[in-house]
Amino acid sequence: MTTNQPRKRTTVRVRAALTIIAVSLASSVFASAIGIYFSTREIAQTVSDDLTLLGDISTGMVVSSINKIKEDTTYVGSMMDRAYTTGGVGELKSTLESEVGPGPSFISLGVVFPDGTIVSSEKEHCGYAAPTAEDASYYLELAPEDGVRVADLSVTASGESLIRCYLKISGGAVFISTLSGDYFSYLFSESDYSIYSSGRVFILDGAGTVIADSNTGETNMLGASFLNSPGEFGDAVNDALFGEGTENVVVQYEDQFENAGRIICAYTPIVHRDERWALFVTVPVSSTPVPDMRNLFLISGLLFLAFGAIASIFLSAMQVKPYDELDRQNALLTELKAEAEDAGRAKGDFLSNMSHEIRTPLNAVIGMTTIAKNTTDEKKRYESLVKIEEASHHLMGVINDILDMSKIEANKLELDPTDFRFEDMIRRVSDIIGFRMEEKHQNYSVEIDPAIPPYFHCDEQRLAQVITNLLTNAIKFTPENGDIRLQAQLAGVTSEAAEIEISVTDTGIGISKEQQARLFTSFQQAESSTSRKYGGTGLGLAISKHIVEMMNGSIWIESELGRGSKFSFRIKAGLADASETMTGKSNDGIVPNEFAGKRILLAEDIEINREIVRSLLEPTGVTIVDAVDGYDVIEKFAADPGAYDIIFMDVQMPGLDGYEATRRIREMETDGTRHIPILAMTANVFKEDVDKSLAAGMDAHIGKPIDMAQVLEKLRLYL
Ligand code: ADP
Repeated sequence: MTTNQPRKRTTVRVRAALTIIAVSLASSVFASAIGIYFSTREIAQTVSDDLTLLGDISTGMVVSSINKIKEDTTYVGSMMDRAYTTGGVGELKSTLESEVGPGPSFISLGVVFPDGTIVSSEKEHCGYAAPTAEDASYYLELAPEDGVRVADLSVTASGESLIRCYLKISGGAVFISTLSGDYFSYLFSESDYSIYSSGRVFILDGAGTVIADSNTGETNMLGASFLNSPGEFGDAVNDALFGEGTENVVVQYEDQFENAGRIICAYTPIVHRDERWALFVTVPVSSTPVPDMRNLFLISGLLFLAFGAIASIFLSAMQVKPYDELDRQNALLTELKAEAEDAGRAKGDFLSNMSHEIRTPLNAVIGMTTIAKNTTDEKKRYESLVKIEEASHHLMGVINDILDMSKIEANKLELDPTDFRFEDMIRRVSDIIGFRMEEKHQNYSVEIDPAIPPYFHCDEQRLAQVITNLLTNAIKFTPENGDIRLQAQLAGVTSEAAEIEISVTDTGIGISKEQQARLFTSFQQAESSTSRKYGGTGLGLAISKHIVEMMNGSIWIESELGRGSKFSFRIKAGLADASETMTGKSNDGIVPNEFAGKRILLAEDIEINREIVRSLLEPTGVTIVDAVDGYDVIEKFAADPGAYDIIFMDVQMPGLDGYEATRRIREMETDGTRHIPILAMTANVFKEDVDKSLAAGMDAHIGKPIDMAQVLEKLRLYL
């Protein structure tokens, strides 16, 4: 269940984020669409309003212009009628000539007679405007009986555009006035006629021909006619000229007209009596005043989108946070739980191992003691005692390991460096464990790099402890006749210190890769079955690792299951001088009567301990005087200070303890009497205990259980 949860949460997170993004996307599209719709409508409305106005104005302008032309034509036509009826063709001709010019820029005035005769007069350079024979028959036929007409734009053979008005005068003749096709364009330009910045206004005649263009002032642009232009635009022109409406401005869009991009075209019909023209406007969408508005809506749409995206990120992050926090806490809890379970299991195993580890040698001690007591066979008794000694040493080792471990856990393990000879230390270690190898017929070899400096300043005991531990394991986990090799190599040296690599290689059972990783942790054994088969507390390697690290080194293992193991470690040790190395070789053998005549005052409240000391030292010939507590030792010493050569002082004694007794003895010595060596002899073996003894005035420290070699060494030193 715990493994599924994060995935489930991730899905929820992704779903939440996707929902938010989808909602914001939808709202942004919605906003943009609304924006575009309204702005489009707004554009259409605005353009439509503007064009309505423009249409009104221009329709008025066109209509009034047409009216003016018609009026002028009517007026000049009646003048011509009069001139012809009163003075004939001659009079008509001269009147025509005098009238070309005035009025709304007539460029040609003329009369066509029913017999086809044409009398006309043109402005300078405007000969093309004279009615042709074809025109004559055309206008004679079309001219109404009364009133004046404006013809659609006509184009001459040489390409000039013309607007013509015509009316019937006396004798069936028709009077024709002609304007330049540019007339309306001219009007546009005169009145600064434009819409928006780049809009164009056209006037189309009934045939769809452009009569005027606000932009160019020229008529024949765009091929003169919009009527034939393709698609909606052409339809629009058609509608404008022939459609139903007379009032409405119709706005349409047309793409890519004249390559001008998106344009709006609008038209309004100009209907005046018989004529139906149209005002046509084209405006590029970009130049209308409103597209900004559409942009505004588009931008607001984008802002919606951005807002949605940010909100989704933010919200999903907010969701993710508690989930992450939860995941983290769950993971931590699971980890802690697993750790606690592991630690609990390891400690549980440890306790049962420990009980086993302590009971086994105790069982041997008790059993063998009974055997020794009851047997009369001296050899058997001796063997029992040897086994008792062995079991006691083992027990001692277990207890020392536990004490070391508890010190390590309390961060109280300290090194106590002394000067020593490296080879001697290796030899002592080898001696101690040698007999066990012999028992198992294992082949033991020692290789010491000759380059290793002879003397070191380092915690010899602790270094020996690590090597002993590795060797003990090698012996334990290597079958009979196996090989065990101890190697010491110089890894580096300076004028003050050396780095030494020491390794113990065996041909034992080996350790699998997974198990190797756990080995150096306290209470861990490669397999729990190990303890049943081989015994052990699982503390040795953890202690060794700690010691090695305190010596600025590291420890590691190379091993293959079933083939053997190689434990190696490196440490840095200070170099020492041969002269400063005190004892060099100690002699732990008893020399009979070596201390004959010397007297030891032994302060010890437990009788058996007094007896042990007495028995052990008996062969040396030393005399031992017992004191049973602190008061007793002071009393005996005070009675005759010169009678003793050394005091062995137990520390924990009822009444007055060893520290206080020492202090009081030292006080007695202030009057100039000689300093008597006082040696603590106690089971309190930690460094702080040693320090405390020294602080109380003692000279040295001997640990219990008593190591004979150590006692002899101290006696030799002080006696
Ligand atoms: P102990 O030996 O008292 O159990 P250690 O910490 O010295 O504790 O060793 C831990 C475990 O490492 C042992 O129980 C054993 O499983 C494994 N081990 C140590 N040394 C060896 C070796 N030389 N060969 C095989 N296994 C070993």
